Amino acid sequence: VLSDQSSQVLSASIGIAYAAAGVGSAESLLRDADLAMYRAKEAGGSRSAVFDADLRAHALARLEVERELRRAIRTGQLVVHYQPIVDVQTGNVDRLEALVRWQHPQRGMVPPGQFLSVAAESGLIVDVGEHVLREACRQAALWTSVVGRPICVSVNVAERQLLDSSLIYSVKRVLAETGIDPSQLELEITEELIVEKLDRRLSILRELDAMGIKLAIDDFGTSRASLSQLKSLDMVSTLKIDRAFVIDVATDSVDRKIITAIVALADSVGMEVVAEGVEHANQVSALRHLGVDFIQGFYFQRPGPTERVVGLLKKPFRVPSAEAFVESP
Ligand code: C2E
Ligand code: MG
Ligand code: MG
Repeated sequence: VLSDQSSQVLSASIGIAYAAAGVGSAESLLRDADLAMYRAKEAGGSRSAVFDADLRAHALARLEVERELRRAIRTGQLVVHYQPIVDVQTGNVDRLEALVRWQHPQRGMVPPGQFLSVAAESGLIVDVGEHVLREACRQAALWTSVVGRPICVSVNVAERQLLDSSLIYSVKRVLAETGIDPSQLELEITEELIVEKLDRRLSILRELDAMGIKLAIDDFGTSRASLSQLKSLDMVSTLKIDRAFVIDVATDSVDRKIITAIVALADSVGMEVVAEGVEHANQVSALRHLGVDFIQGFYFQRPGPTERVVGLLKKPFRVPSAEAFVESP
């Protein structure tokens, strides 16, 4: 019972591991019990779970992926693909988003969704992140010298990278190494990460902003940022509307109303709007009609290897007009 007379019920999730006489160490027994506890939590909490062969196999498989990933980073199996973000007014590629892939010797090209969670849990995400950052900035420098105007890149940031100031050092190091201007780099942070612990994130965001780095909120619309939170994010220059609102933009008037509201909101706080996951001409027209500034998606180009990029930078895309929008039933 708390001091205000309200009561709080506590529950426990318990992980159990049995020790066989003379086998293993105290640490491995605790680790097994820990894994069992997480299974108990996953199953809904307030219960116990016993460490068994299944859990062991699962833990071993994870460890194996982690070991392979460690080697992949060392041996250059992680590659970065790029997807253009197109200015709807001019059709020019405004910047390119860097997206990591794992060129696995047996499994082929593995998408980030299949290895980033292991990378995050093991802490390897910090190395993956720095690798992608370095590659993207190196490419930006190269493309800039090839096409003769500054080319910008957008790089995704993981939660772990925001925990301390290592991201700041890593960005400073990479900028110095590659010689690109800070304004050529944009960092994408998901709405989820920003709203969760905004107070703690603000100082790091301010520092990046002071360095001249651009900041974007990724997957906007999926985590309910509040208006007061958005107001305190005046250092952010871009909102990326999540694909969830784009898919039915041509058929669903509610999605169009939501996007109209997001665009008005972004306008009022001085942010530009990118729509993600755009696949059809009619979606492009609808999004232009609603005032979106930039479009990214398979309609223009799927993410691809560096070799494809210079061609994209030389010739603007043809962008379907706002007037061409027809509301589909
Ligand atoms: P994201 O940052 O929101 O990136 C956009 C994702 O949408 C990419 O998936 C891209 O390939 C996909 N996409 C782009 N256009 C379309 C389209 O028209 N239709 C559809 N269906 N999909 C489209 P990808 O490359 O699989 O990446 C998934 C997520 O993994 C990213 O979402 C990002 O959160 C994360 N990620 C990727 N690379 C990195 C990285 O280097 N570091 C970190 N921390 N996360 C990364
Ligand atoms: Mg992104
Ligand atoms: Mg996104």
